[in-house]
Amino acid sequence: MGERSWTHIIVHHTGAEEKDAEQVRRYHLSLGWRDIGYHYVIERDGRVVPGRSLGLPGAHCKAAGMNFKGIGIAVLGNLNNHPPLPSQEEALENLVRGLQQRFGIPPANVLGHREVPGAATDCPGRCLDMERLRSLPERPDRAVRPEGSGRGTRSGKIYRVQAGAFSLRENAEALAERLRAAGFEAVVVAGNGEPTA
Ligand SMILES: [Zn+2]
Repeated sequence: MGERSWTHIIVHHTGAEEKDAEQVRRYHLSLGWRDIGYHYVIERDGRVVPGRSLGLPGAHCKAAGMNFKGIGIAVLGNLNNHPPLPSQEEALENLVRGLQQRFGIPPANVLGHREVPGAATDCPGRCLDMERLRSLPERPDRAVRPEGSGRGTRSGKIYRVQAGAFSLRENAEALAERLRAAGFEAVVVAGNGEPTA
Protein backbone atom coordinates (compact mmCIF):
# COMPACT_ATOMS: atom_id res chain seq x y z
CA MET A 1 0.00 0.00 0.00
CA GLY A 2 3.00 2.30 0.38
CA GLU A 3 1.65 3.98 3.48
CA ARG A 4 4.00 6.12 5.50
CA SER A 5 4.83 5.34 9.10
CA TRP A 6 2.65 7.94 10.76
CA THR A 7 3.46 8.79 14.37
CA HIS A 8 1.05 11.65 15.05
CA ILE A 9 -2.51 12.73 14.35
CA ILE A 10 -3.08 16.45 13.87
CA VAL A 11 -6.64 17.73 14.25
CA HIS A 12 -7.80 20.86 12.43
CA HIS A 13 -10.95 22.75 11.70
CA THR A 14 -11.38 24.10 8.20
CA GLY A 15 -11.95 27.50 9.80
CA ALA A 16 -14.72 28.53 7.46
CA GLU A 17 -18.23 27.31 6.86
CA GLU A 18 -17.53 25.48 3.63
CA LYS A 19 -20.31 23.44 2.11
CA ASP A 20 -18.37 20.20 1.90
CA ALA A 21 -14.95 18.57 1.59
CA GLU A 22 -15.03 19.10 -2.16
CA GLN A 23 -15.08 22.87 -1.68
CA VAL A 24 -12.00 22.61 0.54
CA ARG A 25 -10.29 20.40 -2.05
CA ARG A 26 -11.02 22.88 -4.85
CA TYR A 27 -9.61 25.70 -2.75
CA HIS A 28 -6.42 23.82 -1.99
CA LEU A 29 -6.02 22.86 -5.66
CA SER A 30 -6.42 26.54 -6.56
CA LEU A 31 -3.35 27.22 -4.40
CA GLY A 32 -1.37 24.95 -6.71
CA TRP A 33 -1.26 22.05 -4.25
CA ARG A 34 -1.33 18.55 -5.67
CA ASP A 35 -4.46 17.65 -3.69
CA ILE A 36 -6.42 18.72 -0.64
CA GLY A 37 -4.00 19.28 2.25
CA TYR A 38 -5.73 17.00 4.75
CA HIS A 39 -5.93 13.22 4.79
CA TYR A 40 -9.51 13.25 6.01
CA VAL A 41 -12.31 15.82 6.22
CA ILE A 42 -15.31 15.30 8.50
CA GLU A 43 -18.44 16.80 7.00
CA ARG A 44 -21.47 18.01 8.97
CA ASP A 45 -23.39 14.77 8.69
CA GLY A 46 -20.42 12.90 10.15
CA ARG A 47 -19.27 11.54 6.82
CA VAL A 48 -15.52 10.99 6.75
CA VAL A 49 -14.31 12.05 3.31
CA PRO A 50 -10.87 10.74 2.38
CA GLY A 51 -8.55 13.56 1.34
CA ARG A 52 -5.06 12.99 0.01
CA SER A 53 -3.67 9.47 0.16
CA LEU A 54 -2.00 8.29 3.36
CA GLY A 55 0.91 7.44 1.07
CA LEU A 56 1.62 11.17 0.68
CA PRO A 57 2.86 13.73 3.19
CA GLY A 58 0.18 16.22 4.15
CA ALA A 59 -0.07 19.95 3.58
CA HIS A 60 -1.70 20.96 6.83
CA CYS A 61 0.98 21.61 9.47
CA LYS A 62 4.46 22.75 8.60
CA ALA A 63 5.46 23.26 12.24
CA ALA A 64 7.66 20.54 13.75
CA GLY A 65 7.72 18.70 10.42
CA MET A 66 4.22 17.41 11.07
CA ASN A 67 3.32 17.24 7.38
CA PHE A 68 5.65 14.26 7.26
CA LYS A 69 4.77 12.71 10.61
CA GLY A 70 1.14 13.53 11.25
CA ILE A 71 -2.08 12.39 9.65
CA GLY A 72 -4.15 15.54 9.05
CA ILE A 73 -7.84 15.45 9.93
CA ALA A 74 -10.05 18.51 9.46
CA VAL A 75 -13.49 19.05 10.92
CA LEU A 76 -15.58 21.16 8.55
CA GLY A 77 -16.62 24.48 10.09
CA ASN A 78 -15.28 27.32 12.22
CA LEU A 79 -14.91 25.75 15.64
CA ASN A 80 -14.06 29.06 17.24
CA ASN A 81 -17.72 29.93 16.84
CA HIS A 82 -19.41 26.65 17.64
CA PRO A 83 -18.52 23.15 18.79
CA PRO A 84 -18.42 20.29 16.29
CA LEU A 85 -21.85 18.83 15.58
CA PRO A 86 -22.55 15.62 17.51
CA SER A 87 -22.27 13.63 14.26
CA GLN A 88 -18.85 15.19 13.61
CA GLU A 89 -17.68 14.58 17.14
CA GLU A 90 -18.61 10.92 16.97
CA ALA A 91 -16.98 10.50 13.56
CA LEU A 92 -13.83 12.26 14.79
CA GLU A 93 -13.57 10.02 17.84
CA ASN A 94 -14.03 6.87 15.75
CA LEU A 95 -11.57 7.98 13.09
CA VAL A 96 -8.91 9.02 15.61
CA ARG A 97 -9.28 5.78 17.58
CA GLY A 98 -9.13 3.69 14.42
CA LEU A 99 -6.01 5.46 13.14
CA GLN A 100 -4.35 5.25 16.56
CA GLN A 101 -4.89 1.51 16.54
CA ARG A 102 -3.84 1.05 12.95
CA PHE A 103 -0.58 2.96 13.30
CA GLY A 104 0.09 2.45 17.01
CA ILE A 105 -0.19 6.18 17.81
CA PRO A 106 -0.39 6.99 21.55
CA PRO A 107 -2.93 9.55 22.87
CA ALA A 108 -0.11 12.01 23.65
CA ASN A 109 0.60 12.22 19.90
CA VAL A 110 -2.97 13.23 19.06
CA LEU A 111 -2.62 17.00 18.85
CA GLY A 112 -4.71 19.97 17.91
CA HIS A 113 -2.89 22.07 15.29
CA ARG A 114 -2.23 24.86 17.82
CA GLU A 115 -0.64 22.38 20.24
CA VAL A 116 2.16 21.57 17.81
CA PRO A 117 5.31 23.39 18.97
CA GLY A 118 5.95 26.34 16.70
CA ALA A 119 2.46 26.48 15.19
CA ALA A 120 1.03 29.99 15.36
CA THR A 121 -2.67 29.32 14.95
CA ASP A 122 -5.85 28.96 16.96
CA CYS A 123 -6.83 25.92 14.88
CA PRO A 124 -8.84 23.70 15.53
CA GLY A 125 -10.82 26.41 17.30
CA ARG A 126 -11.59 26.95 20.95
CA CYS A 127 -14.74 24.81 20.89
CA LEU A 128 -12.97 21.55 20.08
CA ASP A 129 -11.93 19.76 23.25
CA MET A 130 -8.62 18.03 22.54
CA GLU A 131 -8.20 16.84 26.14
CA ARG A 132 -11.44 14.93 25.85
CA LEU A 133 -10.42 13.44 22.50
CA ARG A 134 -7.15 12.20 24.02
CA SER A 135 -8.73 10.81 27.16
CA LEU A 136 -11.44 8.68 25.60
CA PRO A 137 -11.06 5.09 26.70
CA GLU A 138 -9.24 2.91 24.22
CA ARG A 139 -11.32 0.36 22.50
CA PRO A 140 -10.61 -3.13 23.74
CA ASP A 141 -9.86 -4.55 20.30
CA ARG A 142 -6.31 -5.54 19.48
CA ALA A 143 -4.13 -3.08 17.66
CA VAL A 144 -3.23 -3.85 14.07
CA ARG A 145 0.53 -3.74 13.74
CA PRO A 146 2.04 -1.93 10.80
CA GLU A 147 2.81 -4.59 8.22
CA GLY A 148 6.38 -3.38 7.75
CA SER A 149 7.27 -3.76 11.42
CA GLY A 150 8.88 -7.15 10.93
CA ARG A 151 7.18 -8.69 13.93
CA GLY A 152 4.68 -11.51 13.82
CA THR A 153 4.64 -14.65 11.77
CA ARG A 154 4.50 -14.54 8.01
CA SER A 155 3.66 -17.59 5.98
CA GLY A 156 3.50 -16.15 2.48
CA LYS A 157 -0.27 -16.20 2.65
CA ILE A 158 -2.44 -13.12 2.63
CA TYR A 159 -4.97 -12.94 5.43
CA ARG A 160 -8.12 -11.07 4.54
CA VAL A 161 -10.70 -9.91 7.03
CA GLN A 162 -14.27 -10.83 6.20
CA ALA A 163 -16.40 -8.33 8.04
CA GLY A 164 -19.88 -9.18 6.85
CA ALA A 165 -21.96 -10.72 4.11
CA PHE A 166 -25.29 -9.25 3.10
CA SER A 167 -27.94 -9.91 0.51
CA LEU A 168 -28.61 -6.18 0.15
CA ARG A 169 -25.82 -4.11 -1.34
CA GLU A 170 -26.86 -1.05 0.75
CA ASN A 171 -26.11 -2.99 3.92
CA ALA A 172 -22.67 -3.94 2.64
CA GLU A 173 -21.99 -0.32 1.66
CA ALA A 174 -23.14 0.85 5.09
CA LEU A 175 -20.73 -1.49 6.88
CA ALA A 176 -17.88 -0.54 4.53
CA GLU A 177 -18.62 3.12 5.27
CA ARG A 178 -18.36 2.48 9.03
CA LEU A 179 -15.05 0.68 8.58
CA ARG A 180 -13.69 3.52 6.47
CA ALA A 181 -14.86 6.02 9.07
CA ALA A 182 -12.79 4.07 11.60
CA GLY A 183 -9.73 4.45 9.39
CA PHE A 184 -9.72 1.05 7.70
CA GLU A 185 -9.69 0.29 4.03
CA ALA A 186 -12.87 -1.48 2.99
CA VAL A 187 -14.15 -2.60 -0.37
CA VAL A 188 -17.44 -4.18 -1.29
CA VAL A 189 -17.15 -7.24 -3.52
CA ALA A 190 -20.02 -9.11 -5.07
CA GLY A 191 -20.05 -12.88 -4.92
CA ASN A 192 -22.47 -15.75 -5.05
CA GLY A 193 -22.30 -16.40 -1.36
CA GLU A 194 -20.43 -19.70 -1.55
CA PRO A 195 -17.66 -19.68 1.02
CA THR A 196 -14.54 -21.18 -0.50
CA ALA A 197 -12.75 -22.23 2.68
ZN1 LIG B 1 -5.06 23.67 11.28
